[in-house]
Amino acid sequence: MKALLIENNNNVYQTELKEFDDSLLPEGNVMVEVEYSGLNYKDALAITGKSPVVRQFPMVPGIDFAGKVIQSDSDKFKEGDTVVLNGWGVGERHWGGLGQRARVNADWLIPLPSAFTTRQAMAIGTAGYTAMLCVLELEKHGVKPDDGEILVTGAAGGVGSVAIALLAKLGYQVMALTGRPSEADYLKSLGAQGIIDRSEMSEPSRPLGKERWAGVIDVVGSHVLANACATTKYGGIVAACGLAGGMDLPGSVAPFILRGVKLAGVDSVMCPYEKRLEAWTRLATDLDLELLESLTTDIQLEDAIEKSKALLAGEIRGRLVVKTS
Ligand code: NDP
Repeated sequence: MKALLIENNNNVYQTELKEFDDSLLPEGNVMVEVEYSGLNYKDALAITGKSPVVRQFPMVPGIDFAGKVIQSDSDKFKEGDTVVLNGWGVGERHWGGLGQRARVNADWLIPLPSAFTTRQAMAIGTAGYTAMLCVLELEKHGVKPDDGEILVTGAAGGVGSVAIALLAKLGYQVMALTGRPSEADYLKSLGAQGIIDRSEMSEPSRPLGKERWAGVIDVVGSHVLANACATTKYGGIVAACGLAGGMDLPGSVAPFILRGVKLAGVDSVMCPYEKRLEAWTRLATDLDLELLESLTTDIQLEDAIEKSKALLAGEIRGRLVVKTS
């Protein structure tokens, strides 16, 4: 089989496409023929070594994949089943999806909803599934389309693009925050009603600003997240899932204690099984597949290293799907 392999020998970090025998795959009770994987922000960090995402070496990166079961010692899956995997430390501690086969624990797999092909599943990928988890947080908090504008940050990236498409289809009025004004037409085609330049929310935040957002989905962190909290309306919610602009949160408690704003953290990696199922089931009904196609770019396993650098530089629009075979 072919896979990307990350090695770290005496602090020399290297990622290469390699051929090796299936027998080297880690332990697990289900073997999957990976058809597609996604190239996510975390994969790009792992592949380039820019952040300590990989916990043991050598490592096959790839935090998500979709494919067919080719061997199973579990009652949960049988040969031929189509499955999807997101997270659980795969691609970080356990060999992941950026290869032609993966051996994993059955508990980490979800039967792929019949609405999707394996390629569409990875066009959604961990970014899209996380976008759905964020939308579920807004809904759980009771945010309704009539409550006002929803801000989506890092809008032209993977999580942002899918979040806009989902929210717009559900009837919300979406404002897209981007550092790439050249992507305005693309963001509007996904359903954004307006564009906000990232620079407007990148400066250090005041404790409170003019109330504007009924809800926020933030992938950027740092000043953008602090400004988003400070400008969320009384009783609104900010779903925070990312750190593309920084891991810090340089804000004040004022929005929480004076306006009852809720800050909801969203994690896709260790998210419980039932919630994952709910997210994938909702994606099957609430994501417009034509829009999904419009935000998807296909690449080959061979391209993943170069594209990782572009992704971290904020140059990729939407989602990258990796054909593994
Ligand atoms: P992408 O690279 O596809 O998108 C990130 C977007 O953030 C970019 O397109 C850009 O949007 C914006 N951005 C990039 N760099 C900066 C910067 N320096 N300052 C401000 N904005 C920036 O990544 P994903 O959408 O896949 O992931 C986004 C974030 O969410 C990442 O931090 C990732 O780790 C996190 N994530 C977390 C998950 C979880 O479980 N909590 C799961 C999935 C992702 P634009 O050009 O429009 O401004």
